[in-house]
Parts: sequence; structure tokens; C-alpha cells
Amino acid sequence: MDCIFCKIAAGEIPSTKVYEDDAVLAFKDLDPQAPVHVLIIPKEHIASAADITPENSAVVAHIFEVAAKLAGELGLENGFRIVNNCGEDGMQSVRHLHFHMLGGKKMGWPPYAGE
Ligand code: AMP
Ligand code: ZN
Repeated sequence: MDCIFCKIAAGEIPSTKVYEDDAVLAFKDLDPQAPVHVLIIPKEHIASAADITPENSAVVAHIFEVAAKLAGELGLENGFRIVNNCGEDGMQSVRHLHFHMLGGKKMGWPPYAGE
């Protein structure tokens, strides 16, 4: 399968890793949107948040445990934001489940003027 994040998880494409275990990898986003911008991914290929099932959801809980642990190591004691973009309307560009962990500044919120 031609999936860039599977290749990063397999070590076939380099990344700046900040955490790794058997199930999960965290690495720096190439195009940071905040002073700290890390992506946390399952090593197993799950295409998006819309593909989470009772069979594969345990890794999502694990990802949030990893995020909580990383917060201290990344200097995010004052808080952080976790973002998941899902599908076309969610503007997901890489079709391998990933959670953006952002922080190091006060985060804004996307403007919405209503319909
Ligand atoms: P999304 O738009 O939610 O699918 O996010 C994909 C993210 O992956 C973007 O923030 C990209 O900057 C990031 N990205 C794409 N390729 C790489 C890569 N090789 N290493 C690190 N981050 C990447
Ligand atoms: Zn993949």
C-alpha cells in the first residue's frame, strides 16, 4: 500500500521521532502550525477516524495516553490541542489516522460566520 505514514512507521521514510512503542509513533510535523506540532499515529494502517471500530479502537485510547505523557516532555504543561482531520470536509490530506498535538502558544479557533 502506498501510504506515507505506513512508510514512516516502518522506518522507510525518515521522520523526527519524539516517541515510539510497538503500537504508536509520534513525530514532528514537517509543516508546523504552532511552536510544538507533533503527529501521533497508530503503526497499524487505519484510514481515518471514520474507520475506528470496536476491533481497532484500543490504539486510540493508547494514543491519548501517549499524548498525556508527551505533554510534559514537550513543555506543554500549560495545555495543548489535539486535532483530527477526517475525510474530505475535515480536510484530511494523509489517509492514515493521525492526531495533531499542537501547543506552545494560545491556540486560535477557526472562524465561522454561520450559514
Ligand atoms: P492532515 O491534513 O490532517 O491529513 O495532516 C497531514 C499532516 O501531515 C500535515 O500537517 C503535514 O504537514 C504532515 N506531513 C505530511 N508528510 C509528512 C512527513 N513526511 N513528515 C512529517 N509530517 C508530514
Ligand atoms: Zn498507512
